[in-house]
Amino acid sequence: MDNLTNFINGEHVSPLKGQYLDNVNPAKGEVYSKVADSDSEDLAMAVAAAKRSYAHWQTVGYKERAQILNKIADLIDENSESLARAESIDQGKPYWLAKSLDIPRASENFRYFANLILQNTELATAMDSHGVNYVHRKPVGVVGLISPWNLPLYLLTWKIAPALAAGNCVVCKPSELTSKTAHMLGPIMKSAGLPDGVCNIILGLGGKVGAALVSHPDVPAISFTGGTVTARAIIEGSAPYYKKLSLELGGKNPNIIFADCDLDKCIETTLRSSFLNQGEICLCGSRILVEEKIYAEFIDKFVQKVSELKVGDPLDKSSFMGALVSEAHLKKVEGFIERAKKEGGKILTGGVRPDLPLEFQNGYFLRPTVIAGLDSRCEAMQEEIFGPVVTVSSFSTDEEALRLANDTRYGLSASVWTSNINRAHTFSQKLDVGQVWVNAWMKRDLRVPFGGVKFSGVGREGGVDSLDFYTEKQNICISLN
Ligand code: NDP
Repeated sequence: MDNLTNFINGEHVSPLKGQYLDNVNPAKGEVYSKVADSDSEDLAMAVAAAKRSYAHWQTVGYKERAQILNKIADLIDENSESLARAESIDQGKPYWLAKSLDIPRASENFRYFANLILQNTELATAMDSHGVNYVHRKPVGVVGLISPWNLPLYLLTWKIAPALAAGNCVVCKPSELTSKTAHMLGPIMKSAGLPDGVCNIILGLGGKVGAALVSHPDVPAISFTGGTVTARAIIEGSAPYYKKLSLELGGKNPNIIFADCDLDKCIETTLRSSFLNQGEICLCGSRILVEEKIYAEFIDKFVQKVSELKVGDPLDKSSFMGALVSEAHLKKVEGFIERAKKEGGKILTGGVRPDLPLEFQNGYFLRPTVIAGLDSRCEAMQEEIFGPVVTVSSFSTDEEALRLANDTRYGLSASVWTSNINRAHTFSQKLDVGQVWVNAWMKRDLRVPFGGVKFSGVGREGGVDSLDFYTEKQNICISLN
């Protein structure tokens, strides 16, 4: 059985105490490999390696850094089939999705930030003729990168690429549920010419080795993507050290559908925004709000299409959805459905495990689920479920739609469906979220700021915002008189 080990100072190394965790294939519900169960001593080794390498890496010129990052991107592309297959088996997502979304995005992350440092310029600020200020960007040092299980390589590289581009060394802690592609990335980076110790990957439990990373005194910044509850532990654990934090957290994203929209296009996109990756994407639209005039028509068409979605073997290209990431997560999602029923929710489709061939009967599959009839204050309309479950409800006016859309402690993203250009602008600007898509969903451009408000996050990543996080901007003022 494969042992997934740490990647420290350019080598795969076993955890010092030799402890491992089971790694489960979620489609079959069986252990298929072992993952290092690292502790604070392993972490200390990784931080020490990163610190040693920082002395060299910060002197490597931006052109050479860009060249290495571009080479990593090329190697990810060359290995895209094996990476996509590994991601699918490890996470439960369909292979076609990993091949068309996760892995291409991982290489795009490296290529994009390689180009950004080649193009980036800074402004100087003249003080009439007696002085001039300019910004000197300095890397932060050793940065801790903590990533979740839903888009494993995609989100980990969204942190590694800008951090390295900006001249930092890093210690990464991917989710212990999905460490396989992070394990594969280490040797890829080494083959691309990344010096040893610049990127270290430590595997294990969040509460153990993740917490040790957060409170390590030699790691002045932490970039975290994950849940809101974990974020609080990270804020508290890092507080004594006044660390720089970037927190990309959960969402309870509304899709607001007005009667004047292109309904067919809206329904096709809403199927994806609800159930792509089993609904395990922070940007999934989990509260569907539909204008009263078209509510019945929307429900008829949408529910029909949802009931036709195929759930099954992640390696079968006809499966739209694979398995949820773990048994615990499946049970958590089912718990939300049961409590929604008790609160008066009506299951329009789904809510049950699919009937699958013997090979997958112990897998963590769930039919895509649509729930109607809930009040906006009910748990299923307030808490992030992070699975294939959406609620549908109606509204009569723009004011009511806005009130419902903003009626949550989260504020990550929203989709607005309308053909009225004035409404598209005015309504979107009043939404308390970091990202609005009008007549679209998850149309991503790596140049734009990405992040949430309220309980959905602190800070922005993407484009120059990422460089801002991974560098300290030092102002230097030169007197000219
Ligand atoms: P978690 O918050 O449970 O875990 C995220 C990472 O943090 C994992 O690597 C986890 O390790 C680690 N971790 C857990 N506890 C600690 C701790 N005390 N100190 C340091 N690290 C810790 O999130 P999930 O993995 O369950 O991911 C799902 C969440 O991520 C959802 O809320 C989703 O919305 C959010 N997310 C947000 C995105 C955004 O961009 N805004 C994008 C994607 C997801 P371990 O797995 O070992 O516990």
